[in-house]
Amino acid sequence: MEKEVKTTCPYCGVGCGVIATVDDNGAVAVRGDADHPANFGRLCSKGSALAETLDLDGRLLHPEIDGCQAGWDEALDLVAARFAETIAEHGPDSVAFYVSGQLLTEDYYVANKLMKGFVGSANIDTNSRLCMSSSVAGHRRAFGSDTVPGTYEDLELADLVVLTGSNLAWCHPVLYQRLAAAKAKRPGLKIVLIDPRRTMTADIADLHLAIRPDADVALFVGLFSHLVSSNAVDQNYVAAHTAGFGDTLLAAGGVSFDDVLERTGLPAMQLREFYRLFSTTEKVVTCYSQGVNQSSSGTDKVNAILNCHLATGRIGRPGMGPFSLTGQPNAMGGREVGGLANMLAAHMAIEDAGDRDRVQRFWRSPKIAEKPGLKAVDLFRAVADGRVKALWIMATNPVVSMPDADAVEAAIRACPFVVVSDILKETDTARHAHVLLPSLGWGEKSGTVTNSERRISRQRAFLAAPGEARADWWQLAEVGRRLGHTDAFAYEAPAAIFREHAALSAFENAGSRDFDIGAYADLALEDYDGLTPFQWPQRQGQKRAESRFFAAGNFYHADGRGRFVAVRPAETDRTNADYPFTLNTGRIRDQWHTMTRTGKSARLSAHIAEPFAELHPRDAMEIGVGNADLIEIESPEGKAFVRALITERQARGSIFAPMHWNDQFAAKARIDVLVPPITDRLSGQPASKNIAVVARKFKATHYAFAVSLAKPVDPDAAYWALAKAAGGWRLELAFAEPVDDWAGWCRRVLAIPQGVEPLGYADAQTGDIRLAFFDGPQLLAAFFLAREPVAVARNWAIAQLGADHANLRKRFALVAGRPGADKPDPGATVCSCFGVGVNQIVAAVRGGCHSVEAVGVALNAGTNCGSCRAEIRGIIDGCLAAAAE
Ligand code: SF4
Repeated sequence: MEKEVKTTCPYCGVGCGVIATVDDNGAVAVRGDADHPANFGRLCSKGSALAETLDLDGRLLHPEIDGCQAGWDEALDLVAARFAETIAEHGPDSVAFYVSGQLLTEDYYVANKLMKGFVGSANIDTNSRLCMSSSVAGHRRAFGSDTVPGTYEDLELADLVVLTGSNLAWCHPVLYQRLAAAKAKRPGLKIVLIDPRRTMTADIADLHLAIRPDADVALFVGLFSHLVSSNAVDQNYVAAHTAGFGDTLLAAGGVSFDDVLERTGLPAMQLREFYRLFSTTEKVVTCYSQGVNQSSSGTDKVNAILNCHLATGRIGRPGMGPFSLTGQPNAMGGREVGGLANMLAAHMAIEDAGDRDRVQRFWRSPKIAEKPGLKAVDLFRAVADGRVKALWIMATNPVVSMPDADAVEAAIRACPFVVVSDILKETDTARHAHVLLPSLGWGEKSGTVTNSERRISRQRAFLAAPGEARADWWQLAEVGRRLGHTDAFAYEAPAAIFREHAALSAFENAGSRDFDIGAYADLALEDYDGLTPFQWPQRQGQKRAESRFFAAGNFYHADGRGRFVAVRPAETDRTNADYPFTLNTGRIRDQWHTMTRTGKSARLSAHIAEPFAELHPRDAMEIGVGNADLIEIESPEGKAFVRALITERQARGSIFAPMHWNDQFAAKARIDVLVPPITDRLSGQPASKNIAVVARKFKATHYAFAVSLAKPVDPDAAYWALAKAAGGWRLELAFAEPVDDWAGWCRRVLAIPQGVEPLGYADAQTGDIRLAFFDGPQLLAAFFLAREPVAVARNWAIAQLGADHANLRKRFALVAGRPGADKPDPGATVCSCFGVGVNQIVAAVRGGCHSVEAVGVALNAGTNCGSCRAEIRGIIDGCLAAAAE
């Protein structure tokens, strides 16, 4: 019988509710949960494609020791023994956990408890350090607690929404859709986008401030001064609920309007308009994300924003407040359990002796970490120099995502003992593990996550555990027991962990701490199973009606007052004659993190199928790079090869490149190898958006494109990029020197069976070579080679994998690389849900569809998840502008 399970999306911090349906044959379908308050039924392209990512290809199904299958007992005994020996010989700080915002709260809680309370070290850090630790540090400075004051609804209730360092359209797509819908209903709602790039989010912005990288502190310090000079300060709120206004005003006085103009590079008219809008609009929400956080001045940026909201008292009321948009699905849950090296559980402070004593008594632990542990960048430095000798990495891929990623890889490779818990057997990090532990993936594991608006939701299992895979909390508890802490880790189910987490949040907490879910401390198992999404706090015996913080002060500093922080703009330009460009790293619409899940979906890979870098047309011209050329990007830390995408969206002097690609999908596109290990001094968050690099054209002798039924193996080429495609795989290639036997190369890389001869031709004059391999009417692989970037229509070539090639003419048409007149090339995919390409949209616009809605009626594009609507609008505008010229 078909079963329906309510769960939560595992990707971004919006935390959308998902309904998974499993039919009698085990087939899974997903749809948005109309009852979930984060998304009310919406899903973006990534969420909509979740069912396509559940296959077991590449799954790690059994524990492994040194590459050989092992039993759970053997593997866990070894992990416990090596950690115990290392701690005994070198002390608790010689071991470390590097965990993840992809863990469920229950997993995170057990990891933190084991390391801080029973190992006695705070060497547990997380990939959330790379995501939102500057927001945490800024919140704690201003509020005395890590509190997100508002709710998603505030974006819809506001009259002005400021999006700074946030490509909401691609990185928090359902929230973008909610905001776009609110604006469509109420056009008076103004949206200001602050971003060096003209991202897809600009589609709904009334004003786009193309600020210089990292100039946000100057911008918001200038705004603070403007609020004072235009009498927009709420004197009553400032006097009753805050401290530090005078010092902040004094510091702001050192930054003139002209300074702001110079530092931000903005036109005076735009700057004045932004300041006017902010000062004259009562209901303002300022949303910020990685463009603010991932900076050497990230914490100061956050406080510069918070200063403006404190000064105007626009905080914690409907439609008002600062809003940190969390990148990951459970970065917030990680913060709640204290999963960062400088935090204690339940929003308590590791530096506070009273908090340490409280947590230790609650856990009945033999010890408690007495000082902050190593933050991510320092943690891997300690692995490199041998201070950390045993490392357990869970649900994350630091060889791809950490700054200075080559150095991080070398450190992990040299570490005497590395444990990796993951769902995949082969990742860039897993290949260096001594012990591999198979974890449960989305749909198999069960627990809770917290989204950006403090809403806790269940992730529920609806699939059986594959092979011997087990939950991360179970793996940790087993090691805890083997280390001798039997009672403290006697959990049998995640519900028991959640109850303990809830009880700790309420322990000796008479309102002195913001995070309190004591109402759930005695939750029965069946109630945990049926838990509906709720926002914290939920204190025991106090049903809370208000879901916002700080409208009436009550901050968490000892005196109850919020703090203004006197911040000053720092020097931000890192470029020099050798490295003249500023590289900004980030995300794209249809991939998530290091692609271990989204890379399985052909639909998602159809949107952007290879690593790329966006360059301004004049910059591209100056370095002799044309569209679709390959470029080599280099920083003092490393090199990457990607495809050039020339666009006016990019500001001059800057380059954007996504952080997703890794060694499983491309030859050399781990973009974090270029990022230096520069961090914010308070938060330890790396500066991943302001990197000095040089870019040059990569001169290949040959370029190629291939489609293949079998997964290509070890493409021996200077550049390659692999992506899942409908019915098989697609492969982009470039060669630094010619290959003697191209057919032989195809046989080896594209796994062509012995005895299958190619159909093809070689043009001696142009250098073009086309080869196609068939098994009866089935195309096995097609290979298109040229001396320039190959112009063959990609989606048409991919479709040939599913076509019948019994007819010889069809085979020749394929080798010719030309779609028949009856099969026009749809072009690069724009709408992933309905597989609609750019050429189809252009044809529809030329045929009279001049709105996104009209294109939707004609092609369905943009009518499901809506993630592509901004791109469709861009295509329409481009076509209409071209027609008007
Ligand atoms: S916006 Fe998309 S990726 Fe984010 S939680 Fe919702 S469905 Fe998942």
